[in-house]
Amino acid sequence: MTPGFSVRVAFPPPLPDRLDYGIPETLIEKVRPGARVEAPLGNRYVVGVALSVVECEDPQKLRPLTAVLDDSPALPEDLLDLLSWLSRYYRASFGEALRAALPPGGLSAERLHIALDSLGRSLLDGLPLPALAHLSSRERNRLLRLLSALPRTGETPLRTAFRNANRVDRETLRDWEARGFLRLRDREPPGARRLRVARLYPAVSAEDAREALSRSPRQEELFRLVLDAPGKRRAALAEKDPNRARAVRELLKKGLLRVEEETVRRSPLSDHRLACERTKEPPKLRPGQERALGPLREAIRDGRNETFLLYGPPGSGKTEVYLHAAEEALAKGGNVLFIVPEIALTPQFAGRVSSRFGDEVALWHSGLSAGERYDEWRRMRRGQARLVVGARMAALAPLGRLGLIVVDEEQDGSYKSEDRPRYQARDVAVMRGKLCGCPVLLGSATPSVESVANVRLGRYTELTLPRPDRLKPPHVRLIDMKKPRPSTRSLLGSELVLAMEKRLERREQTILFLNRRGFAPYLLCRACRQPVECPGCSLTLTYHRTTGRMLCHACGARHPYPERCPACGADDLHLVGVGTQRLEDELDLTFPEARIARLDRDAVTGKGKLSELLDNFSSGLHDILVGTQMVTKGHDFPNVTLVGVLDADQSLHIPDFRSAERTFQLLTQVAGRAGRREIAGEVLIQTYQPDHYVLQAVQAHDPEAFYRRELRQRRGLYPPHRRLCLVRLEGPDEDRTLAAAGEIALQLSGIPRTSHPGVSILGPSRPLVFRLRNRFRALVLVKAETAARLQRFLDEAERRKIFESGSDVRVSLDVDPFSMV
Ligand code: ADP
Ligand code: ZN
Repeated sequence: MTPGFSVRVAFPPPLPDRLDYGIPETLIEKVRPGARVEAPLGNRYVVGVALSVVECEDPQKLRPLTAVLDDSPALPEDLLDLLSWLSRYYRASFGEALRAALPPGGLSAERLHIALDSLGRSLLDGLPLPALAHLSSRERNRLLRLLSALPRTGETPLRTAFRNANRVDRETLRDWEARGFLRLRDREPPGARRLRVARLYPAVSAEDAREALSRSPRQEELFRLVLDAPGKRRAALAEKDPNRARAVRELLKKGLLRVEEETVRRSPLSDHRLACERTKEPPKLRPGQERALGPLREAIRDGRNETFLLYGPPGSGKTEVYLHAAEEALAKGGNVLFIVPEIALTPQFAGRVSSRFGDEVALWHSGLSAGERYDEWRRMRRGQARLVVGARMAALAPLGRLGLIVVDEEQDGSYKSEDRPRYQARDVAVMRGKLCGCPVLLGSATPSVESVANVRLGRYTELTLPRPDRLKPPHVRLIDMKKPRPSTRSLLGSELVLAMEKRLERREQTILFLNRRGFAPYLLCRACRQPVECPGCSLTLTYHRTTGRMLCHACGARHPYPERCPACGADDLHLVGVGTQRLEDELDLTFPEARIARLDRDAVTGKGKLSELLDNFSSGLHDILVGTQMVTKGHDFPNVTLVGVLDADQSLHIPDFRSAERTFQLLTQVAGRAGRREIAGEVLIQTYQPDHYVLQAVQAHDPEAFYRRELRQRRGLYPPHRRLCLVRLEGPDEDRTLAAAGEIALQLSGIPRTSHPGVSILGPSRPLVFRLRNRFRALVLVKAETAARLQRFLDEAERRKIFESGSDVRVSLDVDPFSMV
């Protein structure tokens, strides 16, 4: 038996992860890694992605591929390598990694459909057709067989047609389509906007038409209109004009024209109300920006992988450096990925990129509709989009030939996926840069402790941006809330109230930051001292005044406001604590003349609401903006001269090794909102721990002091000095879940440390919300000194099947966990 070739094909879940297929001779030239292929599975045909073609002793034993669907790979090859790394590193299946990179509807979204066209129908009706003259009799037979396999009206998937007739190669199909026998169409996902257009057959010329149209000026006019339409020999049809409609019917009959529905490109950028025209001249970089860009520019020109950390305070011009670097990469022929934390929260960023680069920008994030994502995917594949702006999943965008990857706000927690695969988009971007040999630019005003450590270890190159001279750093004051205050009931201290009054007088704006949405976070029973909890979760319910409901911030369930205490039945329930809604009320009383806006997840419902709120505040419609961490994100409010932080300690108390880091980042960012003007802004931080090193570093504008201290605190315990894997367990029964966690911890501890030095196991433990949607959760923590050692240890544990639970307890691995609770 002659050896041949086989191909490994990957499928997204729930299909099997990877399977091998034989390659029929007709397809051997076409199968390429990254191309979508059709393959038999059971008694169906499914679509997957070809991975690698290998020589194979006995390909006859394998089922053969039935079709290759792409002429050019749907996924660039370096992305396949990346997905393969991702699935191993984050302990997911390849199919799960693949799914994260695909548009909704997965691989089949672009399946070809086939339908009869007018000449094909005439042929089936037995009309004599001059068009058949060029076809050989063999070809004529093939054509007839295929056409008779098609329904008279409507379209059918190409593969169904092929099952009923012989397979015909793509070139021949395109030729028959050009001659007007049949039509091929990409099946569109639902919800696409359609437009009726008239289109000339590619093979029809003006000569062909001259005679047929000589006596009908109206038809000739229509024909000309379509023929001369710029570009594609097509024109949109006005629905209403009856004369035009008659002319269209005549031209259809004469076989000169066809009418079809076309999908109008859905532009997610226009939904964000962002202009797509290019703006005039980009600003010239300041000397400080030039200096920072220098080393990066070299790496871009050399097409060399290197990871940079661009570190500069808010407003120092980081985004401008990204945009110049992107221009550099585009000029070199490279494509550019921009990854931002949550695109819905940072519409301004996408706006700036698109106003600089216009139509070449595609958006890629989970907020897009299925249709939008499909369109953007296709534009990337066709090379129409050379820059992609998107959130976490943009790290896996199917954009080839990368010349630069930018990750803005690299410290942001939203880069970590909390679903399988649990990847960290910033780290994936860094790895992607390595695999495809392009520079990666991480930017932040408050970098993660990990990235700061990577700079110190020489893994990343630091680029710093100074604060522009015209921007004065804000004056930060810590207000010690332990000192007795006249009014203890109010959340607003007298210093803050005074400072706000001054702003109101001067017609300047204030931002108040309180990281707790809703009205009140507790409903407490004074009789039994129990707070009202979510029935499904171990968390108190937050009262939301706007809906009058009790909301669980863990599972999202809404409950009615209880009449009596669910625990003891007493009629003595009281709201305790302050969320943004209650603060808004309190402000109304304190400053009756002020115009107040609130910005949190409850206030931002639906597309465009956020931009509207920000625009309104920015244009001076409000004096005070109250909000959660949404107010800390990169907006530019030149008239804000005061920022108040109401409960700086709250986030310090979360039992997580990152709580100090997160607090430092939040406070620095929110303080930065007051530093965007020539006159120095003022920041008042109310705290019970004014001596805490986080607050001291924020006050002194001394991030170095914070990073030094934080790195020291974590030494020997936590990242970046240790690498972690959190084993997450979840089950319907509390005892069984904890017992399973105990068993896993025990078995992990049983792996000999001689071959795994420095690995330690902690737990089992219960997370803060140990009950979520009536499922009980437990944790086991694995620590190792390096990522490689952690991976080797996990490999060993998987070989020993330690994570395979036999009971109803689900076990999942979270490598490099972000949230520890
Ligand atoms: P960051 O991303 O660090 O917050 P930006 O790039 O948004 O900073 O810059 C802050 C402001 O300064 C923006 O309004 C931007 O347009 C402006 N800016 C940045 N660089 C320049 C420059 N070289 N010349 C003029 N304006 C600039
Ligand atoms: Zn709940």
